[in-house]
Amino acid sequence: MAISGGTAARVEEKLFQNRYLVDAGRPHIKVTPHAVPSDALVALTKVCPAGCYAFNDSGQVEIIPDGCMECGTCRVIAELSGDIEWNYPRGGYGVLFKFG
Ligand code: SF4
Repeated sequence: MAISGGTAARVEEKLFQNRYLVDAGRPHIKVTPHAVPSDALVALTKVCPAGCYAFNDSGQVEIIPDGCMECGTCRVIAELSGDIEWNYPRGGYGVLFKFG
C-alpha cells in the first residue's frame, strides 16, 4: 500500500507551531565542561528533536536551549552520568505549545 503525503505535516513544520519565551542569560540546561565529549553527549547531537545540541569548532558539545520543548530525552540519556545539568525553565519561560 502506498503512503500518501496527504496533509501530514513534517516534524519541523509542527515544531514551528510552538513558541518560546527565552530566559536570557539563564539557560535551564547546561553541559558539563569537557575536553572530549562522552558517548552520551555525542548522542544528544542526534536525538534532541529540537536540535539544541551541536559540536563547537573545538569538537565539544554545546547546547543552545532556546528551542527546547522539555521532552526530557537528554535528561534520560545524560543527566545521571553528570554530562548535563537539567532543570525546568523558570515559571513563565520556556516552551508554549500551540495546537495549529
Ligand atoms: S529536553 Fe528534549 S528538546 Fe529539550 S534539549 Fe533535551 S532533548 Fe532537546
